[in-house]
Amino acid sequence: MSRTALPPPNVHALPALAAPTLRSADELVQAGLAPTAARTELDAVGARYALALTATLADTIDRSDPADPIARQFVPDIRELEIQPEERADPIGDDAHSPVPGIVHRYPDRALLKVIGVCAVYCRFCFRREMVGPGAQNLLSPAALEGAFAYLAAHPEIWEVILTGGDPFMLAPRRMADVVERLAAIPHVKVARFHTRVPIAAPERVTAELVAALRAPGLTPYVAIHANHARELTPAARDAIARMADAGIPLVSQTVLLRGVNDDVATLAALFRALVECRVKPYYLHHPDLAPGTRHFRLPIAEGQALMRALRGRLSGLALPTYVLDIPGGAGKVPLLPNHLEPEGERLRVTDNCGGVHLYPPEA
Ligand SMILES: *Cc1c(COP(=O)(O)O)cnc(C)c1O
Ligand code: SF4
Repeated sequence: MSRTALPPPNVHALPALAAPTLRSADELVQAGLAPTAARTELDAVGARYALALTATLADTIDRSDPADPIARQFVPDIRELEIQPEERADPIGDDAHSPVPGIVHRYPDRALLKVIGVCAVYCRFCFRREMVGPGAQNLLSPAALEGAFAYLAAHPEIWEVILTGGDPFMLAPRRMADVVERLAAIPHVKVARFHTRVPIAAPERVTAELVAALRAPGLTPYVAIHANHARELTPAARDAIARMADAGIPLVSQTVLLRGVNDDVATLAALFRALVECRVKPYYLHHPDLAPGTRHFRLPIAEGQALMRALRGRLSGLALPTYVLDIPGGAGKVPLLPNHLEPEGERLRVTDNCGGVHLYPPEA
């Protein structure tokens, strides 16, 4: 057979070529990511909250390190079954601002569109852990999706639609193109922002076809990548990010501040610098939400503010995200700035990043 007679390469088959995703306690044990003795406990957690760890991320785990920051994000922990009184199934109050299924409309000019309930990996600290997973209840029906588009079309104040989930990059490219074309057809919707962990967790899914599907005339795409540790930026993840950046898609990042994962200056600095090197502007550092069974990931806000103060002194402004708290219950996000200003008589006391105090002259 001549070479030209070979069928064209099938891009759809690409994701299937990657090593399989680990989806059970058994598979984690077999992969050396959990001790055999922990299997029953991990099964109990996995029965409660969805479990998935892709081969791409499993390969970054140092199996000899019991405190590995990647393992901590994805390998279940028995403490997830301990629910604290302050924790909530819907920590940031999505339900309170959901006028129709699939839409969360909290701020006038932008709305969330939850197109799909599944993710490539399931983060153990996920703020929507009660809403995501492979269960059928997490899928938006075609009728509900129509209702969501109708809502967006009927609200001319909505300038930006934020596609979230689950993970919108789990859509097949064809379905993504359909969704993007429907949004582009709404004249007042100018920006589509995709919140995704797929470029990190399953970079092979970011095909040329998917990247092309993000774009439609009259609609500007932005991609916000969820990344928590520099080690997540594997060569494959960097390539996936480059495919989007080369296509002219602006990229920002979101990081969750997590105890035992990235709660020190050096780890955060390495992550934010690596993102900038990949053409991704660090956007938000989220204080962890009060999601059920996640107390072991939380740290005091004052500690996060001290980390931000130390980072401001040592990192390029390009590499600094805004540290934010999503107020429990649905009142929205607020910046958690370290306080640099205090009144002192007619003047202002300004504290610099190293703790030095300076007096600013009286203001007109
Ligand atoms: C976080 C969030 C947004 C986006 O907020 P930005 O500050 O624009 O990134 C929009 N809607 C809801 C409901 C949100 O939770
Ligand atoms: S990728 Fe996002 S939505 Fe999915 S489990 Fe992680 S934090 Fe939750």
